[in-house]
Amino acid sequence: MRAARHLILTVLGAAGIALAAGVPAYAGQDTCPAGTLGVSRVIDVDTTGGPWFGEPHGDPNFLGPKEVVLTFDDGPSPANTRKILAALAKECTKATFFVVGEMVVLHPEVVKEVAEQGHTIGIHSWSHPNLARLPLKDVVQEVEATFDAAQKASPTPIAPFFRYPYLSSSKTTVDYMKSRNIGQFAVDIDSQDWRVRSSKPVIARIMAGLKRRGRGIILMHDIHQWTADALPTLLTQLKAGGYKVVQLKAKTPLQLIADVSPPVKPTKKAQARSVHKRSKATAWKLKHRNRMAQQVRKPSV
Ligand SMILES: [Zn+2]
Repeated sequence: MRAARHLILTVLGAAGIALAAGVPAYAGQDTCPAGTLGVSRVIDVDTTGGPWFGEPHGDPNFLGPKEVVLTFDDGPSPANTRKILAALAKECTKATFFVVGEMVVLHPEVVKEVAEQGHTIGIHSWSHPNLARLPLKDVVQEVEATFDAAQKASPTPIAPFFRYPYLSSSKTTVDYMKSRNIGQFAVDIDSQDWRVRSSKPVIARIMAGLKRRGRGIILMHDIHQWTADALPTLLTQLKAGGYKVVQLKAKTPLQLIADVSPPVKPTKKAQARSVHKRSKATAWKLKHRNRMAQQVRKPSV
């Protein structure tokens, strides 16, 4: 079955049905029941040199018109991730899950299920820090320990795909990802599902974003119940709107680095110290900003 499918994909690929220039494209609906959303094509993503995907650095023509990529950050979270998996399965479609190391070690069985159902697994750091504020050695730990844990949990090769927590990167992080041939993921359409507590606004924001952009990499979080609840309706609306789901896969598997231990969690005392330091710094910043605002009377954009 797999060989036959591969042959079909190769033939279709060779026939040049690529929707976006320079991107290998395959039809992927040969095994889905009629009427389901399915997967319109699979892109074998070449992560050599650590390219960006999504706004503002990614190639705007990476996706064709009406093409969407479904992505979920911050999991796995057993109940919600499983609910999302069930909704995706019902529509015979695929997504990418950017997992967090701390969650992977708590719920490795859910990572296994995600992989077994044919979805793509990338990572989203070990402890969800702002990587732009970390020195290189901490960035390496956050990234490599998570790849290691996710790969141990997954029965199939995970992808060298990384999404930045808070979408925050620095020259240090970018150079590192480039040196490791890790694809750097941003976002085209942000569901902002962390801001709300119900499904309706999540769906509305995504559909409005698609209406505006016509295509894009969609960001959601599989730790929220309202996002999991939103999925069946969202997928129905994507189908009704003529949108096509594209699955991203890695052209080349990730090369793991041996013996990278996860970052050590700071003690409660150290955490309290850093919160105290932060609140002092925030108070200073606010005071400084107010003073500046009084001096500068021009309206800000
Ligand atoms: Zn996140």
